Amino acid sequence: MDSERILTQLRLEGYQVSASYQNADVVVVNTCGFLDSAKQESLDAIGEAMAENGRVIVTGCMGGDEQAIRKVHPDVLAVSGPHQYEAVVGAVHQHVPPPADHNPYVDLVPKQGIKLTPRHYSYLKISEGCNHRCSFCIIPSLRGDLVSRPIGEVMDEAERLVNAGTKELLVISQDTSAYGVDIKFRTGFWQGKPIKTHMQQLCEALGELGVWIRLHYVYPYPHVDNLIPLMSEGRILPYLDIPFQHAHPDVLKAMKRPANEEKVLERIHRWRDQCPDLSLRSTFIVGFPGETEAHFQYLLDWLKEAQLDRVGCFKYEAVDGAPANALPGAVPEAIKQQRWERFMEAQQTISAARLQNKVGKTLPILIDEVDEEGAIGRSTADAPEIDGNVFLNGEQTLQPGDLVNVTIDQSDEYDLWGELAD
Ligand code: SF4
Repeated sequence: MDSERILTQLRLEGYQVSASYQNADVVVVNTCGFLDSAKQESLDAIGEAMAENGRVIVTGCMGGDEQAIRKVHPDVLAVSGPHQYEAVVGAVHQHVPPPADHNPYVDLVPKQGIKLTPRHYSYLKISEGCNHRCSFCIIPSLRGDLVSRPIGEVMDEAERLVNAGTKELLVISQDTSAYGVDIKFRTGFWQGKPIKTHMQQLCEALGELGVWIRLHYVYPYPHVDNLIPLMSEGRILPYLDIPFQHAHPDVLKAMKRPANEEKVLERIHRWRDQCPDLSLRSTFIVGFPGETEAHFQYLLDWLKEAQLDRVGCFKYEAVDGAPANALPGAVPEAIKQQRWERFMEAQQTISAARLQNKVGKTLPILIDEVDEEGAIGRSTADAPEIDGNVFLNGEQTLQPGDLVNVTIDQSDEYDLWGELAD
């Protein structure tokens, strides 16, 4: 999203995007500075750009720590932090002056901007930053407190994207359920009508656009219950991405997680009663400081009861500057690994059984890609890139963005296979 904004601005000014390092006058690397592994990936990406091109501008989260970058790559042209779009664009101006022959009446970017995701799905960022202070996280120190985008602006962007061909909008933020808290749910306007800056009103309005609406990073605050009817009525997708991170109250407390309440399992059961098609995705951390075998076993039992559809699991990694580093009870790497394996095994069994239940059903599938083997798409239960796929072997008449009905005939732990329904 940040990359898309930078690209859109540069294209507006007449710059061209190059597909190769060799043809580029300058390379902009957008970094992530959260986990140590992501930092290393960012440093590697900068190293690759330096070796292949040599004229490199660095931006993004890791850019907040210029010294760390310059220690490894002293010759990068410029470094700027997250959301410093003007600084990035300014650095590009300085090192590659804007094309003199640029004619803004000719070189118009499409109204929806330049998108890096395929045309048929788009990310819709509704806020920046976060008011929580989870002990393992440094996002608030990198990105600041929650700042919600005005609802009219978000809806205008959503409408533009849909008019430009988007078939699925993925709502993202650091804390989607908190949308509008910072501005006291201020009333804005969309299509001349008043509308509150609130998650429920946002979902209702998005639901009118006639495309798939998928919610990410939702914390289970009480008002999330009000979204379930919108899902069972088919107005937004029956999908919730809730990063639970753990289940044991002691660990959640040490993590300082938001909406940490004991009745989550009960609510999940209630949500599923109301909306049987609901898919739940989540992420977890194992080996958090102080996590005992009993805490971990509690998590495994919880997982079996919760029957989540899609789950990611990370071994706890210390992040520079995160308060959790100072917590007692560091878990040895070998135990983290062993817990991770036990967790993944338990979840694979759950996931395989849940997918097996879909065999024989006919589901709406959004096609992402068509290659020589056939078409690849996703069901309402699958977000792009992080969840599974639905394979239609031998099906080559479809186009990305097509929405088709598919009868499922096979499944494994992650994916489904099927054929076009009549
Ligand atoms: S909710 Fe917690 S983990 Fe998520 S961004 Fe905020 S502080 Fe970080």
